Amino acid sequence: MDKTYANLTEAEEELMIQNEFHALLADYANTTHIQKIALITRAFEFANKAHKGTKRRSGEPYIMHPLAVARIVVKEMGLGSTSICSALLHDVVEDTDYTCEDIAREFNPKIASIVEGLTKISGGIFGEKASEQAENFRKLILTIPEDVRVILIKMADRLHNMRTLGSMPPAKQLKIAGETQYIYAPLAQRLGFFLIKTELENLSFKYEQPQLYEKIKDNIDRVTPNIEKEYEEFIKPITEVLTSYGYKYRITKRIKTPYSVFKKMQKKNIPFEEVYDLLAVRIILSPKIGENEKANCWVTYSVITSIYNAHPDRTRDFLNTPKTNGYEALHVTVMAPSGKWIEVQIRSERMNEIAEKGLAAHWRYKTGEEEQSDLDNWFNSVKEMLDNADYNNAIEIMDTFKLNLYSNEIFVFTPKGDIIKMPAKATALDLAFQLHTELGEHCIGAKVDHKLVPSSYVLKSGDQVEILTSKSQKPQQEWIDFVTTAKAKAHLRFLFKKEFKNDYQKGQRIVEEELAKLHLPLNSDNLQKILNFYDINTANQLFYGISKGRIPLTSGIKNIFKNTSESKLIKIWKLTFGNNNKKKDENKPITVADKNTIHLTDANVGTAYKLADCCQPIPGDPVLGFLDNDGTVIVHKIDCEVALKLQSSFGNKIVSADWATQQVLSFLASIEISGIDKIGVLREIVKIITDDYSINIKNVNIQTKDGIFKGEISMYVHNTEDINNLCMNLLKIKAVKTVNRIQ
Ligand code: MN
Repeated sequence: MDKTYANLTEAEEELMIQNEFHALLADYANTTHIQKIALITRAFEFANKAHKGTKRRSGEPYIMHPLAVARIVVKEMGLGSTSICSALLHDVVEDTDYTCEDIAREFNPKIASIVEGLTKISGGIFGEKASEQAENFRKLILTIPEDVRVILIKMADRLHNMRTLGSMPPAKQLKIAGETQYIYAPLAQRLGFFLIKTELENLSFKYEQPQLYEKIKDNIDRVTPNIEKEYEEFIKPITEVLTSYGYKYRITKRIKTPYSVFKKMQKKNIPFEEVYDLLAVRIILSPKIGENEKANCWVTYSVITSIYNAHPDRTRDFLNTPKTNGYEALHVTVMAPSGKWIEVQIRSERMNEIAEKGLAAHWRYKTGEEEQSDLDNWFNSVKEMLDNADYNNAIEIMDTFKLNLYSNEIFVFTPKGDIIKMPAKATALDLAFQLHTELGEHCIGAKVDHKLVPSSYVLKSGDQVEILTSKSQKPQQEWIDFVTTAKAKAHLRFLFKKEFKNDYQKGQRIVEEELAKLHLPLNSDNLQKILNFYDINTANQLFYGISKGRIPLTSGIKNIFKNTSESKLIKIWKLTFGNNNKKKDENKPITVADKNTIHLTDANVGTAYKLADCCQPIPGDPVLGFLDNDGTVIVHKIDCEVALKLQSSFGNKIVSADWATQQVLSFLASIEISGIDKIGVLREIVKIITDDYSINIKNVNIQTKDGIFKGEISMYVHNTEDINNLCMNLLKIKAVKTVNRIQ
């Protein structure tokens, strides 16, 4: 990135390296670890010699990268000398002639085995081929219980690569950013590295959607001075009281990153101006010896709520029920003098370290007894899932894994009153398997709050659950349909390996036959269309459902390939607009392969492309391309779910794409509109679209119920600006309440 690296003399380079090394030692000196400076110095010198003469893409000496990773490991993760040495040596075996045996001899077997683990999973989680992806991913996860430091250092490595991603070519940037967002950020969150997770997500966003990122960042920068003023006013009365109590504490503020602002805008469907919680305030207490940290948190809570009014629904007590990643704190949202809601997070220094450095800090505070932490349980369940798995589909492994990462939690009680954490949407049968596979296999149902429920009952927080079993009960293949936890799913897959395989094959055959009737092959493109239509995530799920007759493919397939944008709403009004002679064309998906609209910036591919049906990009949308098997580039919106998946698993097939300017083609786009059902509303909507904007409507599906209307309108537009302006103007109609573009 920095062109000045090229002009450095050898002596200047050496000085830069030595300075960075001393900065590492200074970071290390700031920790409470027993100082093993001689060992670290030896590791540095070994790595420095091994990488001598090689450069990074940015032009800086290669050793600067291991040094930076080592600094992240000590400063941001709080790890000790073994991890620092392993970080310094992490690329030596992969990139130079040294072997793990050399490292074992020079240092110790522990460091050598961590470096070996890192070497095995190098080159990204996903290799070039699908089977390798699955294998690499398994390796990555399976190394966790042996030595979790492998994965922590890998995460530090990824963080540094993300921070320096600017010097990579664009297609590579997208692959790395996609993979980071798909796997590493959730992993960081699951391991409790909140700061790292936030930074990874934000950096991914920056490279995936640079324009949007800049726009939101500018907005944040613009309001930051106001926020700072508001913050000072807000904390003043709090500090006065806390100080008068003789408390030792510090208060910090956190302004949302562009990515989390973007998420909020998307989730709530609001413009930047309506994101009110840009500011979060954190009060970090240092209780005196003998004082109870939880009690201090609650006192602080009552101080704040006696000054400001608390939002009734937004107090979160993670003191008594910490999150599974170990997070403890007390959250309260109060009304600031400005009338805005502000979230205050109250925690002790110990809790704060756990929140920021996650796992590593957890170990530090571990009392030494042999109790299993939630995290250990989680690692074991993931390991179990992968051990039992008979997956041949890398995407499926990732999906199951991701499910496991993101799941929210509910709390249920055993008849004896013990609390058990379960992922949201878990069923009684999941709980049975969670308690013991034996219990799961013989489960016939459950009693929830003393009422009989089937084993498919979806648990709610607070339920008291008693699992009912019978010796004669045997595991049923159908159970796979309603269990949601990875553990139960993996166990059933394991038990019914053969049966599932037969079902999958049968389902696949049916799909092939139905497609053949339409003279279509079963390729990834067509498969994806079917998956999208039925809103199913994986091919195996689809094949299974079809073989069991639960998915009516025969009746659906014509629709899928005739018109993929078919509305799922019940049609009450279906209007067709425009020239009736054109009717025939309207049902065809628009392909513009011969028009010069998309500009493929990758020299290695041809010019044939197709716009993806799943997200229907139109000019102005940020896009990227994927090379499919027959050399056509499929163009997706950059934030399309399908694209994200492809990006993280088939990164080598990414092609950069951009819209060429000056085109007059029309693209199919759809909006979703809702509001109060009043006479004349539809006419007004249609009038704006056709008269004010001269846009051709393809069709309108509106459904009314209880005085509310809801509907979809699809039309031919030229670019995103068209549709954005249109949405804004439709909102000006009084009876219209929401208008959104749909994908
Ligand atoms: Mn590296």
